[in-house]
Amino acid sequence: MAMAENQLFHDLQPITLGGVISSTPLVISGPCSAETERQVLDTAHALAKIGIKIFRAGIWKPRTKPGCFEGVGAKGLLWLKKVKEETGMFTATEVANREHVKVCLDAGVDMLWLGARTSANPFAVQDIADALMEHKEDVTVLIKNPVNPDIELWIGALQRIYNAGIRHLGAIHRGFCFDGKHLYRNIPQWHIPIELHRRCPTLPMICDPSHIGGKREFIAPLAQQSLDMGFRGLIIESHCNPECALSDAQQQVTPHALDLILKSLIIRENKQHTELLSMMRQDIDQCDTEIIELLNKRMELSRKIGRLKIEHNMQVVQTSRYDEILSNSMKQAIELGMNPLFMKKVMETIHEESVRQQLEVFKNKN
Ligand code: PEP
Ligand code: MN
Repeated sequence: MAMAENQLFHDLQPITLGGVISSTPLVISGPCSAETERQVLDTAHALAKIGIKIFRAGIWKPRTKPGCFEGVGAKGLLWLKKVKEETGMFTATEVANREHVKVCLDAGVDMLWLGARTSANPFAVQDIADALMEHKEDVTVLIKNPVNPDIELWIGALQRIYNAGIRHLGAIHRGFCFDGKHLYRNIPQWHIPIELHRRCPTLPMICDPSHIGGKREFIAPLAQQSLDMGFRGLIIESHCNPECALSDAQQQVTPHALDLILKSLIIRENKQHTELLSMMRQDIDQCDTEIIELLNKRMELSRKIGRLKIEHNMQVVQTSRYDEILSNSMKQAIELGMNPLFMKKVMETIHEESVRQQLEVFKNKN
């Protein structure tokens, strides 16, 4: 599986917009939505002044409910054209169907992105891929993760666009929807983009801390976290007057605040090795080997217990025993200064496998 994915994206080209963009991280910024020509141009000029090279603005806004501001539509493309003419910046906007692709390419938009609601819909993604194929232009396309935490759906969307001949391709991590309360607007679930990066190492990964955090104050820490994890770019919403924005007002920052955020970020080098790191990795590998050997020993014990349960005509799962295992391990975790919820998850996984092993023993006896 992993090999097949790598081969699939083997000839991607870096996102340099014709060799002009080389800085790391790649930064894309601009308002959530284009609202008026003045707002677009004021924001763009202020961003150009702080060195931003790629300007984003949503023209068509996928809103959860009707009646919200749904974007200015195609007339906003004329404003993006002006941004290019007046500032020299590249432009980027969201496309959700074939018609959007056509009018954006006709208007000279340099970069298109698929939003989280679109990438969750294979019909819409294919429609966009077909339109891109018709135009035969190697425009840069970024694909946001689908709203639901499904890595295969994300990879599927990337594959559809790649198969349309797009080689300047990237993925945007904007967090995942969830039920209930959380600090952030969308839960990062970092393991999903990290797994995507593991499977597709040539695919540029861009983080969208604005949509993950949902509030201005989370942008800097989330952006730093993403860079520390190896993300290569950032897409951050900015607005000349964020409080009055027609969409996502709470998560937009002024160009000046963006400048401060970017200046505060620490860019770490992607050094693969130092001697000390290699030694510590050997220790980690040794630790992992011991964990696996211990798990194997534990499963052998589980099977032995399974055989004993059959002899005494006992059922496999005894909830009181399960409760005892969970509470003991959580208690021990707390004593050791570890996260008890992490320990609970580990023990639940181990217990699940133990039960499966015992059921196998039961099946083979019957
Ligand atoms: C956006 O970028 O403004 C947007 C609508 O994002 P998402 O698709 O991540 O919700
Ligand atoms: Mn937005």
